[in-house]
Amino acid sequence: MSKGIRRYKSAAAGNGVALGRCERIRMPRAKVLLCCLCGLLAVAIMLGLYMSGDLSSSSSTRTHAVDLTKDKLSHRPSKLSVAQVKRLVSHASLGRLWETHLRPILRERLPGTAGSKLVRQHIISQLRSLSAGWLVETDSFSSPTPHGSVIFSNVLAVLDPIAPRRLLLACHYDSKAIQPPPGETQKPFVGASDSAVPCAMILELVTALDSQLKSLTQQKVPLTLQLVFFDGEEAFQEWTATDSLYGSRHLAERMSHAPHPAGAPHTTLLQAVDLFVLLDLIGAPDPLFVNHFDNTARWFDRLIAAEKRLHKLGLLSSHPSEQSYFRKDVYLGPVQDDHIPFLQRGVPVLHLIATPFPSFWHTLQDTEENMHAPTVENLTKIMMVFLAEYLGL
Ligand SMILES: [Zn+2]
Repeated sequence: MSKGIRRYKSAAAGNGVALGRCERIRMPRAKVLLCCLCGLLAVAIMLGLYMSGDLSSSSSTRTHAVDLTKDKLSHRPSKLSVAQVKRLVSHASLGRLWETHLRPILRERLPGTAGSKLVRQHIISQLRSLSAGWLVETDSFSSPTPHGSVIFSNVLAVLDPIAPRRLLLACHYDSKAIQPPPGETQKPFVGASDSAVPCAMILELVTALDSQLKSLTQQKVPLTLQLVFFDGEEAFQEWTATDSLYGSRHLAERMSHAPHPAGAPHTTLLQAVDLFVLLDLIGAPDPLFVNHFDNTARWFDRLIAAEKRLHKLGLLSSHPSEQSYFRKDVYLGPVQDDHIPFLQRGVPVLHLIATPFPSFWHTLQDTEENMHAPTVENLTKIMMVFLAEYLGL
């Protein structure tokens, strides 16, 4: 929006310069008046022709940017009936989440390795098997790291690439390089909660919602869904500004330079993001998710409401109280994660990360055996309701 306003001011300044030139002509008064009138007429005609071309496109772009911001801020979720909620979550399958989506991710997947490629191919093939029509792209780039130059590959998927606005749902699929303690047998770190389970949840969400997402895309509505599976979230050594978040730093930069809609001079793909929802460190029992940002608090409220509603309907298991997971009354401080490069560029963020971190965080105990299946299923159902309401499915 700020770019549009600058363009508007420079057009007004140009108009003033054209009038100033006429005042400097020295002639008898009648001739001066006539000349000035003719001059003004000519300038007006030329300006009219000019404005009908270039300026009108600038004006529509500015209007587009303003509308985009207004539409984002005023976006209202739909309200599902009890019958709709029940029908919706009946499509979620824990068995499919675990066997089809999660198991192939539970391996070492360091950036640039064969393990990473296998997991990436698994994610891509799952998305391409759906009927909603995902446009899947591998976003590869190389970056210097403490271990030399490494090739990273984000996986991006979008339903309707030309929709003016998009809800972005993200996780990271790389695993951290963790050395086993001295004397212990070599065992790979599979990062079940970090972040194999969040990736599997996203795959299950779009699988369970496949038919609704297909009809959303066919309706050509102004809002669509984008998925991002980031590579290179983890640091190779100590977490620093340059040794971490390789994939998200690259993508945020790239989206900030990508015109959207195609060819637009002043609006970018980054501005098209309504909300950036990031899932991380999910799978341990009794997780706590807190609200990190005031500007997205109303969306955090939707998660609280979805949890309460599903609890009251008896649709959650191993769920002791109606507000077990999402809490606004506690705050344990910010967490550095893949949302940072987007947050720094003004994108609204909903950071869904378990805090405190699971006890097995960044240890070889972050395994399938230590995941709590009912919690994963409950959170998937809550996210289904959230997505259905946000997107109006
Ligand atoms: Zn980690």
